[in-house]
Amino acid sequence: MSGVVADDRVAVAWAALAAVPDPEVPVLSVIDLGIVREVAAQGDSVEVVLTPTYSGCPATEVIAGSVRDALLAAGFGDVRVTHRLAPPWTTDWISAEGRRKLADYGIAPPGPAAADGAQVVRLHRRAPAVACPRCGSADTERLAAFGSTACKALYRCRACREPFEHFKPL
Ligand SMILES: [Zn+2]
Repeated sequence: MSGVVADDRVAVAWAALAAVPDPEVPVLSVIDLGIVREVAAQGDSVEVVLTPTYSGCPATEVIAGSVRDALLAAGFGDVRVTHRLAPPWTTDWISAEGRRKLADYGIAPPGPAAADGAQVVRLHRRAPAVACPRCGSADTERLAAFGSTACKALYRCRACREPFEHFKPL
């Protein structure tokens, strides 16, 4: 690895991570999700710090394994994946690109978790209006708090009658 500067290795690592999908929403990479907090690389060693999404999401360990595999495949010999729990991940960390991909995928992207950052009170039980990802109507109803995974809620659009999943803001 002589002659390869650390920044290049970091860029290689980020590029590899961009190809690691979220197992629950495969159109999103772990970077789109915003869960990659830090990447440090030196020689053929790399350390990645991840913040898990929803606690209790079984995807967390799956993601760590996929990240490890992707970095090994990218040529790193020594891969360390660690988790950082604070500050907790919020759906605000999903990138603009990630939100666009969610909408294209037919999942209503999460709205901002907090309108202004000053005094944040997270009201998990309150269900704000969620626009239908198919027709854009705001006339939607929540059918179930949990969709195919604990991270998504099941909604139905009253305008086009289609059910859809909403990535819950957190
Ligand atoms: Zn609709």
